[in-house]
Amino acid sequence: MRRKLIAGNWKMNGSLTANEILLAGIKADIGRPDCAVAVCVPAPYLAQCQSLLNGSPVAWGGQDISVHASGAYTGEVAGAMLADFRSTYVIVGHSERRSCHGESNEVVARKAASALASGLTPIVCVGETLEEREAGRTGDVVAAQLDAVLDGLQAEQIAKLVIAYEPVWAIGTGKTATPQMAEEVHALLRSRLIARNPGAAEVVQILYGGSMKPDNAAELMAMPNIDGGLIGGASLKASDFLAIVRAA
Ligand code: PGA
Repeated sequence: MRRKLIAGNWKMNGSLTANEILLAGIKADIGRPDCAVAVCVPAPYLAQCQSLLNGSPVAWGGQDISVHASGAYTGEVAGAMLADFRSTYVIVGHSERRSCHGESNEVVARKAASALASGLTPIVCVGETLEEREAGRTGDVVAAQLDAVLDGLQAEQIAKLVIAYEPVWAIGTGKTATPQMAEEVHALLRSRLIARNPGAAEVVQILYGGSMKPDNAAELMAMPNIDGGLIGGASLKASDFLAIVRAA
């Protein structure tokens, strides 16, 4: 049995004051969750998360990582910097990075490798656009996105990945993939992992993301290959986030 993981993706939201209220709300009611829980926050707030979440069941991490280790890369955040603040996770290849910042499969692969080199767990995002789904290309698109990352790793590193399937058309839109639609893609992703390293494939958590909410989380996570969620909008409200944690 894989332990489930619920990871919040705050995106570019928050302030010192708002974060303090949100994290206090989460800590007050989280108890001892059955699943792993994390928040992925804007880099300036990592220090605040470290001080407020240290000793709690909630881990933290970043939303992006440089492919470089250090040097003349203005605006970039290195893996070692995320690790300095005791980050556990970092999101790589979110569709907003792919579409707004031109991140190719090759760049995403380098970011995943960079995260592992810094001792971080990359949450590798894959997902098709609406046009790609309607053209019947979902399987090809997500397989190419995942394979690019796997190609850059040793087989034994695969166990250290988290994968997130996030259909682009479901992100922030209120349209969720049905549990069956999501499971079909999750099973395909699992089969690609099995082809590289069957043992590791069994332990890799494959999260679903895209309008996961308290009212649809349980049915999504009841599917055999859906091992948790990457939560955007609903991670900004403590009661919604905790309801999803409880559904896991
Ligand atoms: P959403 O975002 O839950 O607001 O759809 C998910 C994500 O983009 O990670």
